[in-house]
Amino acid sequence: MRLSPHDPNVTIPLQTDRAAGEPRTTCRQVVELLSDYLDGALPAEVRARVVTHLASCRGCATYLDQLLEVVRRTSSLRQDNPPTGLYDRLRATFRDQRDR
Ligand SMILES: [Zn+2]
Repeated sequence: MRLSPHDPNVTIPLQTDRAAGEPRTTCRQVVELLSDYLDGALPAEVRARVVTHLASCRGCATYLDQLLEVVRRTSSLRQDNPPTGLYDRLRATFRDQRDR
């Protein structure tokens, strides 16, 4: 056995992506960005990458659905500032992406 991080047979996907120099968004990155995404706190460029990924990745889209469910429940508890229209707006965004 001679497995080491330098062995070409042992590739770590995340590091490979970064080494490629192309800003490819991984599922892990999307999941980490989702809360900021929902808050509208992401730069437009990053947000576009998240949206593009969500439109083509069922797993992350499902995760977003679950996250939105939590947001809706939480906002119903906090009646002072509900994110009105957030859910519909996101739905519309995904529809646009899929129609392309
Ligand atoms: Zn994904």
